Parts: sequence; structure tokens; C-alpha cells
Amino acid sequence: MVEKKIDHVVKRLGRRYGDAGIAIPIAEDLISKPGIPANQPDVDFYSRRYPLEDPNFAFTADNDWSWENTPPEDKEALRRSYRLVSPMVKMSRGTGELLPSNEPIPGKDITEDIKVKARELGFCEVGITRYDRRYAYQARKRWVKFEHAICLAFEQDYERTQAIPSTFGEEAAFHAYASMSQTGLILADYIRSLGYHAQVHSPLDPSAVYIPMFVAAGLGQLGANGQLLSPHFGSRGRLMIVTTDAIVTYDEPVDYGIHRFCQICQVCVNRCPGRALMRDKVWWRGVEKNKLVYERCRPVMARYSACGVCMKVCPVQKFGMKTVMEHYVDTSEVLGKGSHELEGYRLKDKGYFGPGELPHFDAEFFHIPHATSEDALFEEFKAKLKEHKVPNGPSGDAELREFRRKVVKALGRDEGESNPMAMILPKEELERVE
Ligand code: SF4
Ligand code: SF4
Repeated sequence: MVEKKIDHVVKRLGRRYGDAGIAIPIAEDLISKPGIPANQPDVDFYSRRYPLEDPNFAFTADNDWSWENTPPEDKEALRRSYRLVSPMVKMSRGTGELLPSNEPIPGKDITEDIKVKARELGFCEVGITRYDRRYAYQARKRWVKFEHAICLAFEQDYERTQAIPSTFGEEAAFHAYASMSQTGLILADYIRSLGYHAQVHSPLDPSAVYIPMFVAAGLGQLGANGQLLSPHFGSRGRLMIVTTDAIVTYDEPVDYGIHRFCQICQVCVNRCPGRALMRDKVWWRGVEKNKLVYERCRPVMARYSACGVCMKVCPVQKFGMKTVMEHYVDTSEVLGKGSHELEGYRLKDKGYFGPGELPHFDAEFFHIPHATSEDALFEEFKAKLKEHKVPNGPSGDAELREFRRKVVKALGRDEGESNPMAMILPKEELERVE
């Protein structure tokens, strides 16, 4: 067996505060570029011409459909999680208005203070970069007050994650969200005590697509599963941001070799029950990446406890990047690939699927409404008209009145600020839970 030549070694802090640091060898054949290949003028153009939409506004029909198709036990878990996390999510929305509680030390760069405090509080990965407004949701751009983004990754429980997809596994995400929502608020208080503003962007009420900023801050690279692969826990990290006007120093992106490694690995692509992940990278909004087909993913997520098979089967999640990359250097192989331990999973109504086995769903399974609730209602009504299901006369008039009532209701709920956490519970359900 011929060992691969190592191009460089990435040194990172230990997983927990106080742990010894780690060194990750990156094989020569995995080198592409630090961060992610991107064409910045294209990123600029798409962000201006087609700004990203807040899913809370843009996908209300999908959210409602998803809730209707969520099994009862998962609904109960989501209600519990909502009660646990929502007070902190709501509190976070107002943090940009809070004033510093002290005078700053003039000219002092507080990068190290912030990083040490964040790690003491339990964030395993911390990096700082510019808050990149090109990835901000259109409706939230004006809410974001400060230009420096402190990127914070929190580790989700290992054991529960290996039980994905299941209610037990899904709750791991909410436990992480609850902890980090609280510690994010504490970190912001700490930054204010050093004399600066700090605005908390809750993990459950994101202001932007966060992964590009985490990649820019050197905390990992984008995996073929569409998730951040960070050194210690791969895709098992949950992400949030605190923005600030403090004096800080930015981190640099890193080439962990993931961009190329994923093309060799492909485990998540092969194992996705919805066949939603694409084998080859495409250029999308100025970035080269493996693109997920949303319409093949969401129906699986709704019915199977948010699915997450693509997170569970990732070797970097399961074994950590150092172990995976060392194994690749030594053997040219992907650690765990082809094994039941890594690739196996169970879908509650369909049984167990080992390596090479995938569930079958009929085409109907993937039919979901698109965009906003009012758009979906118009589509539904158009289909009825085409099929001559809206006759002239009193019954057709009643049909029209019912259509009008539903559209007015759908429009009414989108007034004002977007609804934090609407991706988790639809509005009617939020009112019931609160
Ligand atoms: S969440 Fe499930 S369905 Fe969606 S991409 Fe991942 S593995 Fe596929
Ligand atoms: S499973 Fe393999 S291909 Fe998918 S994200 Fe993880 S390392 Fe990349």
C-alpha cells in the first residue's frame, strides 16, 4: 500500500475548551483551494438580482404541507422543542438594540477574549469574518446592524445523531439549539461588557445562509450533503452567528481537502432515501457545489423525523476529520464506506436499509405545494378551472367565495415581521402552543 503524499497539515484547537490541539494531514490529491471555489462577480450579481428569500416568508405552503404530513409523535417533539427554545429566539431578535454596559479599552482588539469566552461557554468552533450581506435574506437585511460575524458551531449529541432518522435523533438538534441559544445570549452580554454592541442571530431564526461565512472563517468546508464539515464533528455541528462592532481580526478560509474528498466519498449521495443529492458539482449562484434537490428532500424530511441520513452517514461526522484524513493518506480509502455501521439506517415503516439498499417511494410521495400558501391556492384553483370543477351558478359561486376566504387568510398571516420559527410550526399551531 502506497501512502499518499501530504500537501499540508491543518492545525486546530481541541474539541473542547482545554483539550489538546489536533493536526489534520491533507493529501496532495485533495487540494483545491481554501474555502470554496467561487466566482465573486457572479455571487454579487445573483445576490442583487435574485436576493435570497427568508424561508419563513417564501415557503409558507411547504411549511403547512410539511406540518400536515408530520407524524403525531414528531409533532409532539416539535411542540416540546418549540416551548423550550422560543423564548430565547424571541429575545435574540431585540439584542441589536441593547447598549454596551461598559466603555471599551480604546484600540484593543478583543478577538481572543471573544474566542476564549465562546469556547468556555461550549462552542467548539469559533471564527470571525465579515457578515456577508450577499447571503442575507432579503427581509432581514435591514435588521442586521453590525458588520463583523462571530461564527459559532455547537456540537450536537453523538449517540442520538447515530439514531437518525428518529424522533430520538431529531431531538438532539433541539437540545443543541436550546443550549446554544442560551449561550449565544450570554456571549453577547459578555461582548457588551467589553464595551461593544452584539446582536444574536438565533440558530432557529437565521438572518442568512450561514455556511459561506463559516467557510470564510476557516471553520470547515461545504460537504456534498450541503452541510458544513467542520474538523471535530463534521456535519453534526449546529450553527449560529453573533454580529458585533467590536475591534476584531478576521480568520482565513482553509483547504481541508473536503471539496475533492466528497467527490471520492459520495456516501451521502448514495444513501439519501429521497435521491435528493447530486453526484456532480454544478455552479450555482457563483459557487461550485453539489446541489440538493429540495423537492426530493422535503417530503422525506416531513415524514421521517427531519431525516438527516446525509448527516448520519457522513464519515467526517462519525469519526472526525483527523481520523478520516489520516485513513485516506494511509489507504486511499474512505473510512467506513460500505459498512453497515456507517451506512445503515432504518425508516420506521419500511425497515432497515444497509449499504447498496434504498427505499422505494412512488411519484405521489414527492408531490408538495411550492412557494407561498397563496401561490399554492391559486395553483389549486387554476387546476380546478382547467378540469371544469368550478361550474356556473350557486355552487361555483360558493367555490369562489371559499377560494377568496382562504387567500385572504393566507395573505393576512404574512403581514408585518416574518414569524420566527415558522419553519418549525405553522402560525395556527404557534398560536395553539403559546
Ligand atoms: S435530509 Fe434525507 S432526504 Fe434530505 S438530502 Fe439528506 S438524506 Fe436526503
Ligand atoms: S458523506 Fe462523504 S460525500 Fe457526503 S458530505 Fe460526508 S464526506 Fe462528503
